[in-house]
Amino acid sequence: MKSLIVANWKMNPATWREAKQLFAATRKAAESTTKANIVVAPPAIFLRELKAAYKGKKISFGVQTGRAEAIGAHTGELSLAQCRDAGASYAIVGHAERRAMGESDEEVGKRITAALSLKLTPILCVGESKRDATGAHFEYVRTQLRLGLVSVEPSQLGRVVIAYEPVWSIGAERAMGPRDMHEMAIFIRKSIVDLKGPQGMSIKILYGGSIDETSAPQMLKDGDVHGLLVGRASEDAAKLSALIQAIEYK
Ligand code: PEP
Repeated sequence: MKSLIVANWKMNPATWREAKQLFAATRKAAESTTKANIVVAPPAIFLRELKAAYKGKKISFGVQTGRAEAIGAHTGELSLAQCRDAGASYAIVGHAERRAMGESDEEVGKRITAALSLKLTPILCVGESKRDATGAHFEYVRTQLRLGLVSVEPSQLGRVVIAYEPVWSIGAERAMGPRDMHEMAIFIRKSIVDLKGPQGMSIKILYGGSIDETSAPQMLKDGDVHGLLVGRASEDAAKLSALIQAIEYK
């Protein structure tokens, strides 16, 4: 099965000109791979034009956040409906950097439900900020899953992607070990089956912490994941092509 590589550009790059260049390099890398499907989640202001100019099939588009309400008095915000209209087919929901700005579990749950009803594929981000020997991080992740998926029907689970992105690994120098990811993937699947029943087995899981061309092949091989949510390495054309090449020959 092909891996899903989600390129979260975050608030990069600074100009439309650079965004077109980064997208052109991403497109080239995407066209060279037989092992991955790519989702590009640019700053929303670049989305409609990038999507309109792209005629290929290898890349889908996503947004990094979006509100559940379709319209309203929310100065500075974007709705998932507007993002859908601009060409997104995926929506990252509850990224750690958004949660740090105040996005609550309840809000995340509403956005997941709204994304599904708009026929967007939600990517629900979960992950603890620290770990200790008590294993409390498992309970933390279980709660984020329960609240994020609160209104999701078992039959919809096949359309939801979970990104496990431990906050301590985002922006870190090294990726988390694939064995630890594997353990967490089993836990996530079991938690969803406990919450929603056997259809929980159909959920897709991504690793979403620090990653690059040296760590990606092993993570995809041993981490029990369907793909990667990539931050820094997707904002740099050379790094992204190296990562995609590395997956190709894993
Ligand atoms: C992320 O924020 O999901 C992420 C993977 O970031 P970085 O690549 O910068 O660690």
